[in-house]
Amino acid sequence: MRTIYFDNNATTKVAEQVLEEMRPLFCELYGNPSSMHTFGGQMGRRIRQAREQVADLLGCEPSEIIFTSGGTESDNTAIKGTLAAMPHRRKIITTRVEHPAVLTVCREFENQGYTVVELAVDKQGRLDLAQLAEQIDDDTALVTIMYANNETGVIFPIDKIAELVTDRGVIFHTDAVQVVGKIPLNLSKSNIDLLSLSGHKLHGPKGVGVLYVRKGTRLSPFMLGGHQEAGRRAGTENVPGIVGLGKACELAAKNIEQENSKVKNLRDKLERALLEKCPDSRLNGDKENRLPNTTNISFEYIEGEAILLMLDKYGICASSGSACTSGSLEPSHVLRAMGVPFTAAHGSIRFSLSRYNTEEQVDYTIEKTPQIVNQLRKLSPFVAK
Ligand code: PLP
Repeated sequence: MRTIYFDNNATTKVAEQVLEEMRPLFCELYGNPSSMHTFGGQMGRRIRQAREQVADLLGCEPSEIIFTSGGTESDNTAIKGTLAAMPHRRKIITTRVEHPAVLTVCREFENQGYTVVELAVDKQGRLDLAQLAEQIDDDTALVTIMYANNETGVIFPIDKIAELVTDRGVIFHTDAVQVVGKIPLNLSKSNIDLLSLSGHKLHGPKGVGVLYVRKGTRLSPFMLGGHQEAGRRAGTENVPGIVGLGKACELAAKNIEQENSKVKNLRDKLERALLEKCPDSRLNGDKENRLPNTTNISFEYIEGEAILLMLDKYGICASSGSACTSGSLEPSHVLRAMGVPFTAAHGSIRFSLSRYNTEEQVDYTIEKTPQIVNQLRKLSPFVAK
């Protein structure tokens, strides 16, 4: 059976060109960049090139890039590294809709006695910037707010937020894991101090990421050990991963506008048709300020998991807004924070597209999904028959 992959916010296919760049780095060119011999030392050039490719996509200096093991490590480093560098400040501001890689870390600091403010969002998943401004005080070490939400695709006005935060002398971090490669960025024109990204979300390999650190930002290293990454992140470099991520960034930079308008057209077609053909369905999130590849739709009165299983029978991969916690289905913290009613949050499905999706795949999904929804509604105890 063919696979129709609409789960690109979870992970993406590695681009063939990325794999080709990585291939020689396993069995032929496997030296350690820290070695004195030429065989290992030549790896340094590859890493330098990758650093430049990432910096080109982000619009920053190569020296502002630290390679990590992925989005989770970058988020951990940003938060823990900032707080360690500023031990006299004891307050963190974040939002209720962050990824667990941020939220769990902040809550751990709360357990240790820090003040953690989780800003609310409105029904469309938007932030109130006045509320943010009100919360910043002399005790605030860090504001960490995601660039775009992984579940709904809602984009926050990050440049504006960065300006507001840094004008008050506070460090600003953004988790841009879902954004890099999907919308153009230019960090040289923004006040963002720290930014996280992850290779496997932009057709690069898993297990590699980046923390962008604006020149002059105080940050204590999170991983201690050797002197790699100019003493900012210890551990032998994941050379194939870094080189693959560099290539993925080069490809993204080349085609970002063109590819994203194609992806957006496909997403819009899918979304429009599903909302039209499925009664009692609703879009979750701010329709205007959204990633071009993401749509999150609730189908009332049925469970997202059931829809996913039936889509899966047709080879269609998507994801749902609920997670199974201790035997019961819990709607996602993001949809709950947006005040999405229980019946709708339970039946939410996220379709996230990529450059590899086709019109034919979208048409097939438009044909199958309403049939599935109808079939499940016939079985639902909540629908009047
Ligand atoms: N932040 C966001 C918004 C994400 O969507 C993800 C992954 O889903 C992460 C962080 C974690 O990234 P990684 O899987 O590279 O650790």
